[in-house]
Parts: sequence; C-alpha cells; structure tokens
Amino acid sequence: MSNYPSNEPVRLTLENQPSSEGSYSDIGEAHREDDEFCGFEILDNFERFNQTNDIYTRGQWDSRIRSEKVLNWFKGMFRPGIGVKKSEGYQARDFALKNAGWMATNLIIERNLKSDRVDGFLDYIQEFGPPHTEKMEIESVEQMTAEVKHACLTFGASDVGITAYDPRWHYTKNFSTKTLSEKEYGIPEDLPNVIVVLTEMDHDVIRTYPSATAGVTVGNGYSHDCAMTLSIATYIQNMGYRAIATVNDTSQCIPYAIQAGLGEYGRSGMLINPKFGPRMRIGRIHTDLPLEHDKPVRFGVREFCEVCRRCSDGCPPSAIPDGPPQDEIINQSNIVGIKKWTVDAEKCFQFWVNQGTECGVCIRDCPYNKDPASWLIQKYHQMWLKLAASPFKKLALWLDINLGFGGRLRPNDYWAHKLKK
Ligand code: SF4
Ligand code: SF4
Repeated sequence: MSNYPSNEPVRLTLENQPSSEGSYSDIGEAHREDDEFCGFEILDNFERFNQTNDIYTRGQWDSRIRSEKVLNWFKGMFRPGIGVKKSEGYQARDFALKNAGWMATNLIIERNLKSDRVDGFLDYIQEFGPPHTEKMEIESVEQMTAEVKHACLTFGASDVGITAYDPRWHYTKNFSTKTLSEKEYGIPEDLPNVIVVLTEMDHDVIRTYPSATAGVTVGNGYSHDCAMTLSIATYIQNMGYRAIATVNDTSQCIPYAIQAGLGEYGRSGMLINPKFGPRMRIGRIHTDLPLEHDKPVRFGVREFCEVCRRCSDGCPPSAIPDGPPQDEIINQSNIVGIKKWTVDAEKCFQFWVNQGTECGVCIRDCPYNKDPASWLIQKYHQMWLKLAASPFKKLALWLDINLGFGGRLRPNDYWAHKLKK
C-alpha cells in the first residue's frame, strides 16, 4: 500500500468535483415491480451514485473530510503500530489481529496498483486468465443454477442468491487514487446475471465493538470475499463463460442482495438476513452464464424497525435516523432520489477516524444478530423471528432486551473466552 492514499493535500475545485450522470428515466421499468420489496422507494429524481462521493474516497480528495488524522486512519488499516493505545481493545495485539485480516485483500490490491486500479476495493477484481475458449453445453438452466449455488457454498459462501443485472445500482464513475478524481467506470454492462454471495462475520469478536479487536471482521471479510468471488468467477470462466468478481467496488451491494432474496433493508442502512442479521459482507459475480433468478423475500424487518430503535439509540455519534424513511439529502455521500433510512456517513466515518478503527455497534446490537454457535439461542431465534413478524413486535423487542441480547463483550474477555474454547 505504498502509494495509497497519497499524502498530497487536496482542495475541492470545480475540476475535481464529481459529476453525476444517469437518471431513473435511463433505466426503464424492468425492476420497478420488485422495488416494494427493497424497503425503499425509488423516486423520479433518482440518480445513479458516483463512487467519488463515497465517504472513503471523499476521505482522500474532499478537503471537507480529508485531514492528517483521516490519512493516518487509512494507513492504520495496513500498518501495525498506528493507533495503538493503552486502553483495552486498542492495544498492540488488537491492531495486530485487525490488520492481519486484510492480508489477502492487500495481495489483490497490489496486483494492479500501477495501472491505477485498486482491485477488490475500488475496482472489480481483474481475472487471472481469459475464459476457456469452448463454452460448456448447458442442458438445463435449472440444474446449472443448482450447481452454481452448490459451488458457491463449496467456496465458502454463507448464503447465495441470483438476480438480474440492474444498472441503477452501478456507479456512474469510479475513483482514481492516482489523480484523486473520477475515472471512467470499468465493468462491462452486458453480463445479464448477478450471483450474490454472503460471508458471515464472526459473532464473538463483533460483540467487542467498539474496539480494534472487532476490526478483524472487516479486513477478514474483504479477504474472504476477494478469494471466494475470484474462485467462483474462475469456475465459471473454466466452463467457457464470462464472469467478473466484485466486492465493494462496483455497485451498491445491498439492493442487489435484496433482489437476490438474501434479506431486507433495515433502519441501520444494512441488509438484514434472517439467519445472520446484519453480520455479513456481500460479494457479487457478474456473468453471462445462463441462470435462474431468485425472488426478494419479506420477513417483517421494515415493520419491526419501525418499533425498534436499538441501532439509532446505541450509535455513538447518532448517525442513524430514529424517524421514518425520508429522501432528504444529508450530505454528498447520499444517493439521490430514494426514500429510505439513511445513515449520516460523515458522522459515522468521523467516529471511526476518532477512535482509530472501524465501528459496528449497530451490527452488534441488532436483535436479528444472534450467536450461531448456540443451539439454544438459535432455537429461540427461530421463535423470535415469528414473534418479530407478528403484531407482537414490541413484545419481541422487550424480550430481546430483557434476555440480555446485545451489549458489549470486553475485548479482554473475548481473548480469554476464545482461548477457553
Ligand atoms: S458503524 Fe457505529 S458510528 Fe457508524 S452507524 Fe453503526 S453504530 Fe453508528
Ligand atoms: S437494531 Fe432494530 S431498528 Fe436497527 S436495524 Fe436492527 S431491528 Fe432494525
């Protein structure tokens, strides 16, 4: 990560102000029928998002966000020693663990840095070789779909769904770390199918948020996603079809996951899956391999979030809204033209920078996040999901709080607990 990000100060000018292109009228009616399932309402003034407006890229070019502290925070993601404090959860062992999680991602990133690409972070992951020249014959799309899903689980996906390419969720431009401004968007737009894969993040370490210890789930999630999506793409290429592996670099992952039937949208701005809650990362593989599509699912998250405020009450910088969904633009990192619950990305990111590592208190405390290793808790969770989707939502919330779910595990207890297992 030698030249990422640059240390040169940047001023916001008309020249490097990101452009916004691509409106709702460009993209037709194809997906509107599924919108009611997305948990947000797409308005007529909808605009596709420019990656340059993402809070992490703004941390590099936007003088309103970028500072020495922010640049140090980026460096601290990759270099041990930065941010180490005496306080529990922020000591050398915690940062050592957190930074090691990024190892495989760093290898992928280093590959194309000289070509102004940050694969697996800001750009899709370039293939290692061209697809096999001979297309394998497919007798049954249904059987092919089942085999692909099976392969995804074999490569380590926690869950998988398939949906159609939807241009609304793709960026208009990508971000160049070389020029610190926008560059042409790179992914081909003629791959009709999107395989969406989930990676479950470790439940126990997430309980230590806020801490550097818990940060290992982010880097480790990225690394797992990079390796897994690349393996799935290679498997498809070996059958003679085109496939592109993407992580958080190419499109809005949450709407794609919702359309692929992997969960609903929550107040915390995250995907809520019935099994893992918000404790997941989301990868995608774009392909022309013929595949069947899944349908969005509903299990009452939107209605439950209307009575629950655990994430908004617990968010340290109050970045999560406690009111109804709305289309007000909070800052430049918002997507325009969608009525939904929107997290204030500037407040959230500033909190991350101030504490020297990521935060995930909203993942930790969400009632949909339960310990997967406990048979008893999983039995309770099955019953709780039914209660949360029923008219007795307040009882479900009361039960969850009074049974002691959520709350922080002390990082020192995490280390001791792990060693005991
Ligand atoms: S990650 Fe932390 S700061 Fe950001 S929205 Fe969640 S609780 Fe708030
Ligand atoms: S904590 Fe409550 S309000 Fe927030 S996303 Fe989870 S269920 Fe919804």
